[in-house]
Amino acid sequence: MKTALSIADNVRNGSSTAVAELEQTLDTIAARNDELNVFLHVDHDGARVMAEAVDAAIARGESVGPLAGVPIAIKDNLCQRGIPTTCSSKILEGWRPPYNATVIDRLVAAGAVPVGKTNLDEFAMGSSTENSAYGPTRNPLDPSRVPGGSSGGSAAAVAAAMTSISLGSDTGGSIRQPAALCGIVGVKPTYGLVSRYGMIAFSSSLDQIGPFSSTVADSALLLEVIAGHDPLDSTSLPESSPSLLAHVDDGVAGKRIGLVKELYEGSSPAVVAAVMGAAEALREAGATIVELSIPELRLGLSAYYLIAPAEASSNLARYDGVRFGRRVDGEDVTAMMEATRTAGFGAEVKRRIMLGTYALSAGYYDAYYGQALKVRTLTINAFARAYQEVDIILGATTPDVAFAFGEKAADPMAMYLNDVFTIPTNLAGDPALSLPFGRGDHNLPIGVQLLGPGRSEAQLFAAARTLEIADGRA
Ligand code: GLN
Repeated sequence: MKTALSIADNVRNGSSTAVAELEQTLDTIAARNDELNVFLHVDHDGARVMAEAVDAAIARGESVGPLAGVPIAIKDNLCQRGIPTTCSSKILEGWRPPYNATVIDRLVAAGAVPVGKTNLDEFAMGSSTENSAYGPTRNPLDPSRVPGGSSGGSAAAVAAAMTSISLGSDTGGSIRQPAALCGIVGVKPTYGLVSRYGMIAFSSSLDQIGPFSSTVADSALLLEVIAGHDPLDSTSLPESSPSLLAHVDDGVAGKRIGLVKELYEGSSPAVVAAVMGAAEALREAGATIVELSIPELRLGLSAYYLIAPAEASSNLARYDGVRFGRRVDGEDVTAMMEATRTAGFGAEVKRRIMLGTYALSAGYYDAYYGQALKVRTLTINAFARAYQEVDIILGATTPDVAFAFGEKAADPMAMYLNDVFTIPTNLAGDPALSLPFGRGDHNLPIGVQLLGPGRSEAQLFAAARTLEIADGRA
């Protein structure tokens, strides 16, 4: 397995080149993309220009960034200038953004080479990529199973070794859940740590962009590159990017780690065993394990399925056939908009828009949306209380290993329940990461989840690295 750190080292010291690394990535994509449906678009020419620029800078003796020559896959809800960006929706078919998301500019400035756009559930709504208008992505570890979602393409790109790193977005679990199901590392940063300028909004009070990788250190490096204040995003935290990579080997000695039963109860026996194994490994590394109960977390899923659809119903109002992508003509403007939205959106997106519109409508606003906001405050306060007792919280990422295609697609509630452990952190705005630890049914990977208070990414990476070593993957 090639890491981003090793690729950048080799490109910088001349034992490889950015162009050679890119060609290898393009070959792997060509070999497996038909089967797995990971990339919706591969930017062969643009990526070659960027890779050549990195090699030319090295030849001129210029200093190149920490991701010099590292190919990276980008979730297709992040805008890249001139590159088709669909959000896996028919409604954006043919749209090419005229600008870069801030994360793209930061990647390129760091020497990384964006190679293409990855599949997702339409508008990031889903947990399996089965909601993509362009067909599902297959899990590289078992192509009869889902890779998770909504960032399933970005997780599969890393799991299939097409790229060493990728970017996803996490509104209710869409980085951590596919990371768990694909056996890799995925991080949802603190709300506001990474600029969302140029990310196509789903639920603006929850959305965050974050990294995928095979190793903990690569995610720390990638997050360092993309984090830090951006004046173009009004929700961006005012400080510069934190130092993360330098802390991955800090360990957990003296840390208090809360084993929260609401974050693993009801899981498969193998998942519960993995969480217990992780707790034991952290204890052996010098942490104190504290068993905790945070009953408020049980309400998270219900609150999320009011807040996220409410915000989505507003955010998706802009797809009206006038400004972006696809238009279906009609006799007048109203008929055109109705025909465009009827043809352009898939079933799950329509379901969310209807749920959200209902929750926000006069007469129901207080009973649904208002109530959900109160639950959100309860969640924030409950986490804050827990973090007075412990430094880090440990739980499962998902209740079970990767499921088969069609297993949950017909029942929205069954699908939504896959995110029961990931959603509470998004409501609180706190960071969390998932990393593989142990194996479950069919020898598929299990993800354990580490959560912390706002801006505690450095200690989450240190705990994750401790588990990575204990799991024998370092
Ligand atoms: N699976 C959740 C949903 O469908 C979370 C999605 C996400 O984080 N983008 O809303």
